[in-house]
Amino acid sequence: MSLSKLNNLYREVILDHANHPHHKGELVTATNQITLNNPTCGDVINLTMELNNHRIQAIKFTGDGCTISQASASMMADVVTGKTMAEALVMAKTFSDMVMGKKHDPVDLKVLKDAAILASVVSFPARIKCATLAWWALQRALLDEQDTRED
Ligand code: ZN
Repeated sequence: MSLSKLNNLYREVILDHANHPHHKGELVTATNQITLNNPTCGDVINLTMELNNHRIQAIKFTGDGCTISQASASMMADVVTGKTMAEALVMAKTFSDMVMGKKHDPVDLKVLKDAAILASVVSFPARIKCATLAWWALQRALLDEQDTRED
């Protein structure tokens, strides 16, 4: 994707997250881990999370790939920290709806904070998987956790 086609402010926020990612690294206290890749672009995201009492206490990521995929992981980790699993699953759904061009209440999008900026990838269909990779990884890890839960 040619980032130059994006609004300058959006571009700056995306580049800032990609160049100085938040929550980058591996969590030593992790209770859950998942690695997902996007073969069409070569993006890889590895998430480590500490879940405690149905809440995301902490989350970190490592990975490699294009600017959009890495920026999206940083934005995602920012907004889901401290959220309950249920809240984070709703956010992941909202995010993927948004980048696929489905209309959403602005109030729902506001919860996504910086990640809402990635709504602009809707005009670049080839990059949708790059933007959603981190959120899919999050969603998969949380759904697996729900499945293995006996209570
Ligand atoms: Zn990519």
